[in-house]
Amino acid sequence: MSLITCKLCGRLYDATRGKICSQCLDELDELYPRVREFIRDHSKTSFSVDSLAEDMDVDILRMQSLVDLGYLDRDVPGISGADEEKKKKEELLQQLKGTLNTSAPRERHSDEKASKMYGQERYGTGKKK
Ligand SMILES: [Zn+2]
Repeated sequence: MSLITCKLCGRLYDATRGKICSQCLDELDELYPRVREFIRDHSKTSFSVDSLAEDMDVDILRMQSLVDLGYLDRDVPGISGADEEKKKKEELLQQLKGTLNTSAPRERHSDEKASKMYGQERYGTGKKK
């Protein structure tokens, strides 16, 4: 059994259950319905972790933990927006790579053709001489 420091309350606890002690996990369990209700009551507002923590007067570390633990992902679209943007960029990159991969053989093919023609020309002129 290894003891580590809870990142929320700073207490030492048995590390087998992740980065947060069981007492804080219980508190997050209680906090989550409140946050969910708050978001539902303000459905026209788009929240970030920062603004939610501030508006609800909740420790931002706890709010972030709710996101990290997957509590809030499904309730607040875009609360992990940075990750989404990253994913989109990576997808775009993959698409670009795909385009390059499919066009590469075509380029090689035309190069081959050009060098063949060049070779024939040389052969031809050689024959004439
Ligand atoms: Zn704790």
